[in-house]
Amino acid sequence: MQVKLFDTTLRDGAQTEGISFSLEDKLKIAKLLDELGIHYIEGGWPGSNPKDIEFFKAIKDIKLKNAKIVAFSSTRRPNVKVEDDKNIATLLAAETPAVAIFGKTWDFHVTDALKTTLDENLAMIKDTISYAKKAKKEVCFDAEHFFDGYKANKNYALKVLKTAEEAGADVLCLCDTNGGTLAYEVEEIVAEIKKKFKKPLGIHAHNDSECGVSVSITAVNSGCTQVQGTMNGYGERCGNANLVSIIPILKLKMGIDCISEKQLKRVTEVSRHIAEIANLPLAAHQPFTGRSAFSHKGGIHVSAVIKNPGTYEHIKPELVGNERRVTVSELSGVSNLLVKAKQYKVDLKKESPEVKQLIKILKDMEHQGYSFEEGEASFELLVKRTLGLVKPSFELEDFLIETHKHGKDNPVVTAHIKLKIGDKRYEAEGTGDGPINAIDNSLRNVLENIYPEIKSVKLTDYKVRVLDSEAGTAAKVRVIVESSDETGSWGTVGVSTNVIEASWLALVDSIEYKLMLKTK
Ligand SMILES: [Zn+2]
Repeated sequence: MQVKLFDTTLRDGAQTEGISFSLEDKLKIAKLLDELGIHYIEGGWPGSNPKDIEFFKAIKDIKLKNAKIVAFSSTRRPNVKVEDDKNIATLLAAETPAVAIFGKTWDFHVTDALKTTLDENLAMIKDTISYAKKAKKEVCFDAEHFFDGYKANKNYALKVLKTAEEAGADVLCLCDTNGGTLAYEVEEIVAEIKKKFKKPLGIHAHNDSECGVSVSITAVNSGCTQVQGTMNGYGERCGNANLVSIIPILKLKMGIDCISEKQLKRVTEVSRHIAEIANLPLAAHQPFTGRSAFSHKGGIHVSAVIKNPGTYEHIKPELVGNERRVTVSELSGVSNLLVKAKQYKVDLKKESPEVKQLIKILKDMEHQGYSFEEGEASFELLVKRTLGLVKPSFELEDFLIETHKHGKDNPVVTAHIKLKIGDKRYEAEGTGDGPINAIDNSLRNVLENIYPEIKSVKLTDYKVRVLDSEAGTAAKVRVIVESSDETGSWGTVGVSTNVIEASWLALVDSIEYKLMLKTK
């Protein structure tokens, strides 16, 4: 049995309170999902959001290894010819190989929300699906509110599915849109549907009863062969079914083919990377991929785990690319470090004394709040600096930032900087619309004359995360700076209780990384 994974992080997941994906974020996420082996990536609703149209345009230039891109849409509007419906025209113009079309399945939604007749709703579903099939699209029909609709008016819900099947839908996806259905109800209903329909069934669950994962797993066990969900369970209200948990359960516990073992080992990295892109902290206790998912603190647990990890672990953490953390262990992370060192072409052996030293530095930095998922360039610099392979290209003597606000005018920020390069001293000034912008400009005013290659470096993103929010204004912040030049992009990170200092550290790494690329 094979299950197809359908990710809607970029569509349903983008509805999460606090998430606002830029186009670049969406492309990065799509690439990560593709590498993870996701079969379908729903990129958005082109008919309702112009930003999504940009995504569909841009993704065409990216070669995906595994995934098909899906565009989402409602059915045609009531009493409009499908050929004349703008929304549907925009859907097809996205030029994706597959589309997801959602239709009302719950009778009261048809009459009260859509304000049309039950028959017209069926016609809307039929017309839209046949039209998309004629345009050679693979069609997933999302039966919105399927379970609630089935409970309220079984006959009508079945008619909706029948209509979609006859119109040529390739998958009938049963949606628990309000997230209120429980797993045992899903088991019964899916088993009944399975008997009545030939087309593959899918499940799309929301997490309002905290049953998103269990509903999805149960649906698969009862015969669904497509699972829709989001990374880290993002989604509006309480989120969608969490693919980050569903994938390892399918693969490791149910023995169902969905992604390869090698891809499964990347699920932790991808889950954390997407959390960084979303700029939302990943819950430490998130199953499978959280930092605490396999961490052992209690003394008795630790001694048992050291003897046999199976005593307090439901799976081996390395199967999902996570790691066992025993709070006293100084060895955790060594294998990761060695893998990275190899990637950076740095000769590092397990037994070298530098490994111990690096692990200690890393532990301290992690403790301070560093995280390198989105700041890997800083990590590479750290490794090479510690080993003496990279020397600083400049040294800060002093900087001073002034913010001048006059009446109701916008504040003007000026940064003064003093640097040492070799035994020469340099001074410069820069202005900007904020302190970071001003300090970046002042730094460039010195450095661009000496290292002209940094002219091509652009700061493309800047993110600030408050780390220990209980401490109020004394809290630490982690700043991520994303930079790019004509050859690629890289992320750097700085941590401090002062946001300017954290930004400075990330900024310096960004420039040092660029200068290191030159000498590579
Ligand atoms: Zn949904």
